[in-house]
Amino acid sequence: MLSTGFFGGRELSEKCAVFGAYGVTEAARAAFYGLWALQHRGQESSGIVSADGMRLYRHTGTGLVANAYHEEDLEQLAGHVAIGHNRYSTSGGAGDHHSQPFWDRDLQFAFAHNGNLPTTDKLARFLETKKISTERLNDSAMMAAAIRYFISQGKDIGKAVIAAFPLFEGAFSAVAMTPHTLVAFRDHCGIRPLVIGQLGDGYIIASETCALDTIGATFLQEVRPGQMVIIDSDGIRTRQITPGRSKLDIFEFVYFARPDSKIMGRSVNEVRENFGKQLAREYPLRADMVIPVPDSAIPAAQGYARASGLPLEMALIKNRYIHRTFIRPTAALRERDLQMKLNPIPEVINNKRVIIVDDSIVRGTTTKKIVRMVRQAGAREVHVLISSPPVKYPDFYGINTPVQKDLIAARMSVKEITAHMGADSLNYLSYDGMIKATSLPADAFSTSCFNGVYPVAIGERAKEFVKL
Ligand code: 5GP
Ligand code: MG
Repeated sequence: MLSTGFFGGRELSEKCAVFGAYGVTEAARAAFYGLWALQHRGQESSGIVSADGMRLYRHTGTGLVANAYHEEDLEQLAGHVAIGHNRYSTSGGAGDHHSQPFWDRDLQFAFAHNGNLPTTDKLARFLETKKISTERLNDSAMMAAAIRYFISQGKDIGKAVIAAFPLFEGAFSAVAMTPHTLVAFRDHCGIRPLVIGQLGDGYIIASETCALDTIGATFLQEVRPGQMVIIDSDGIRTRQITPGRSKLDIFEFVYFARPDSKIMGRSVNEVRENFGKQLAREYPLRADMVIPVPDSAIPAAQGYARASGLPLEMALIKNRYIHRTFIRPTAALRERDLQMKLNPIPEVINNKRVIIVDDSIVRGTTTKKIVRMVRQAGAREVHVLISSPPVKYPDFYGINTPVQKDLIAARMSVKEITAHMGADSLNYLSYDGMIKATSLPADAFSTSCFNGVYPVAIGERAKEFVKL
């Protein structure tokens, strides 16, 4: 029986970041700065595996990238090849052994995954026929175990990925390595982003282009849906493992990606500004100012302000030093959790008709608190504009949204939500308006959280929601 103890326990994998470097001096250091640039994709833990052509080295730590590594850790991560991962998950157990990259030191193989496999039936059956217990393995760990199995049978890492690929059903943008080779591959819909860059004579793989910019790499191309990239001493090659058709999760444009990244040739910032401009066409409101909910809604609010001619006021101030803290607030302070994160400037808002722009409403708690906060700061009218349509369906592809009954738009009409929020008005960007703002065709996207259409099989999980 093969040991799979290296591959962590059963845990949901959530929105995450992946990174890879090949042929780069101090590859782990490049990974460190790349992961830092991708911090928004996961804050729970971070890990890097490097290789110096002889053996693999690994370090993982909890919390933010800046805290997860010390100088000695990076010095210990020797070599010119590295992969890295930032992990985000909402459930507890941020223990180090859950962190990616997974590795097998004996077999000299490491793997990291961004995305989620909603169904692992085929993969689990395969592993069980190979006498590999899946009991303690999450989806990512099962993927690693399958590739590892084929390597243990004598295949090189590229052939091992090709052999394991048909077992993977879901969203995955993944990196894997041996001491001499880096591979990256993406599901046939390309649901999560993944890009290739060049750094000197070496190559970089990253979830988003902002990581390339940070380390001075130049963008080459995206890893195409269904494609694998192999980088070794012979250079870089791509191989189309299965026919691909882009179904990028549009939530990358709405909320998830950094505005300074480019996805599918589009500036995320520009698309978000277009969401705001489109909102201005759909809802030309009478008001005195436009206020973004920082940071994610700043580009959309900017777009609305530009199109409407209303002034943009940064009247909600975000504490940028907030992240997961393990110090428990008192009950009274917990009531004020949002105020710890955001605080209004009453002098700007007082007696004004304000438009608050946010990127999305999920459970509805944030918006409700913001409306109350802005009213207490003296606003005369509070209008809310959301730069995406109502989120009515759960995500199964790697963004951690709650179950359907906790999605406020699945339970209430827009009119009911408006009353619940205590806003003078509340409006969402139309679905067609959102698509138009991307200047890409609708069928290039997965829009499942808005319309319940899931482009990749979700298996039994289809029972977790009703079509509205
Ligand atoms: P709500 O309070 O309605 O549940 O969440 C809405 C807020 O969460 C919005 O301000 C939006 O920017 C943010 N948001 C949207 N999607 C996500 C996500 O996947 N994770 C986190 N942490 N925040 C999100
Ligand atoms: Mg937000």
